[in-house]
Amino acid sequence: MSFDTLGLSAKLLRAISDEGYESPTPIQAQAIPTVLSGRDLLASAQTGTGKTAAFTLPILHNLSTGSRDKTRKVRALILTPTRELAAQVSDSVSTYGKYLPLRTAVVYGGVKIGPQIAKLRRGVDILVATPGRLLDHVGQGTVDLSSVEMLVLDEADRMLDMGFIHDIRKIIDLMPANRQTLLFSATFSRQIKALADDLLQNPEVIEVARSNTASENVTQLVHPVDRHRKRELLSFIIGHRNWKRVLVFTRTKHGANRLAEQLQKDGLSTATIHGDKSQGARSRALSAFKRGSVRVLVATDVAARGLDIDELPHVVNFDLPNVPEDYVHRIGRTGRAGSEGEAVSLVSVDEQHLLRNIERLLKQDIPRDVVPGYEPDPAIAPEPIPGFSHRKGPRRASRRDRFDAPRTNSRRPSRGGSSARGASGSKMPLPVKRSEARR
Ligand code: AMP
Repeated sequence: MSFDTLGLSAKLLRAISDEGYESPTPIQAQAIPTVLSGRDLLASAQTGTGKTAAFTLPILHNLSTGSRDKTRKVRALILTPTRELAAQVSDSVSTYGKYLPLRTAVVYGGVKIGPQIAKLRRGVDILVATPGRLLDHVGQGTVDLSSVEMLVLDEADRMLDMGFIHDIRKIIDLMPANRQTLLFSATFSRQIKALADDLLQNPEVIEVARSNTASENVTQLVHPVDRHRKRELLSFIIGHRNWKRVLVFTRTKHGANRLAEQLQKDGLSTATIHGDKSQGARSRALSAFKRGSVRVLVATDVAARGLDIDELPHVVNFDLPNVPEDYVHRIGRTGRAGSEGEAVSLVSVDEQHLLRNIERLLKQDIPRDVVPGYEPDPAIAPEPIPGFSHRKGPRRASRRDRFDAPRTNSRRPSRGGSSARGASGSKMPLPVKRSEARR
C-alpha cells in the first residue's frame, strides 16, 4: 500500500517522501482516511507504531485545504502528557508540514513562559501542549481556544495516570462542542472508555495491535542476578558486548541518579533524564545521547514516555517496573519502525513476582540467561519492592507516578516520592569475577 491512495495533498506526500517513508504503517492506513473524513477517532496504538503521523498528516491536510482563518486563532490542539512528547510531536508537525503555510507552536512547563507568549501572540494554527502549561496560558489570557476545530489527546491513558483529567476537562470546556476529537491511548482501560464516551461522537474505533503486546522486533532476555550486583553486571555487559547506545530504566529518580554516578565511575559516559531535572538539562541529556557523546541514558518511566530515539538497539530494565504495562512501554523504545532491538532485564530475587506479572500480561515466557560469574546466591531472601503491595499489586497509578511526575506546572499534586528508595542500587562493589558472558 502507498501513501498516495490515502487522499493526502501533494505537499504532504512530498514531505513524507523526504522522510523516506515508503508505505503507511497500519495505524496510518486506518486512521488517516477516518480523520480526513472529519469523524471522531478512538485509536489504540503505542509509540513506535507511527501514531504521530497518523494524526498529524490528516490534521495538516484538513487545515491547509479548508478556508483560511486570518485571525490565526488555534484551530488544532494536540495535548500530550509530557514535555518530551510535546516537543517530539511538534517536531513531527513541523517536519510533515514544512511545505504548508501553517504555523505551529509548542507550550510546556519547566521553561520560561515569555517566548511562548510571544509566539502565541503572532498567531498559530496548530498548538501542541501539556495540559498544565496550557492552562497557565489560559489563565494569563495568552491563548484562545474558542476556534479549535480539531483536538487530539495523545497518550490519553498516561495523561489520566498522571492526574491530568481535571485539567483536560477544563481545557475542553473552553472549546467549541462541534469539533473533531481524536483520542489515542496505548491501552483501553475503563477510565479511557468512560472519557471516550464523554468526548467522542460516534467514533471510529481502531485497534492496531493488541495493546499489551511486545513488538516482534524486540528480543527479550532476563539475566537473573543478585540485587547488589546489578550495577556491576550492567557495566560488564555494556563493556563486554560493546554497546554504544543504551537506555536504562530505573524505578525511581534517586535510583537513576545513583546508578548514573556509579556507571560514570566505571568509565561509561552516562546522563540521566527524570522529573527532577530541569527541561534544559533533560533536553541536553537527550541530545547528547542522540549525538552519541553519551553512551548510557538512565531514565525513569514518566520521563522516558514517548521518547523517540532513532537507532536505539538496547534497552535495559535495571529495575523491573511495578506496573507490567510499563514494561511494554519501556521495551517499545527499541525495535522501532521495523529495526531490530534487544531488551535486557536484570532481575533479582525481589522482583520475581513482577516478572511473573509481566509474563502473564505478555502471554509469553521471557528466556532466562544467567551470566557466568553473576549467578544469583540462593541464600539471599527476597525483600519488598517500594511501592508494591503483594495484596493489592502496584499502588494506584496516580500515586505511583508522583515518584517521577514531571513538573509541568504548579497544579500537580506535591511530589511524594522524594524519599522513596530504589530497590536495587547498592553500596558495592563486591569482588568482580570477570568471566566471559554468554552471547
Ligand atoms: P511514533 O509511533 O509516532 O512515535 O513513530 C515512531 C517512528 O516511526 C518515528 O521515528 C517515525 O519517524 C517513524 N515512522 C512513522 N511513520 C513511518 C512510516 N510510514 N514509515 C517509516 N517510518 C515511519
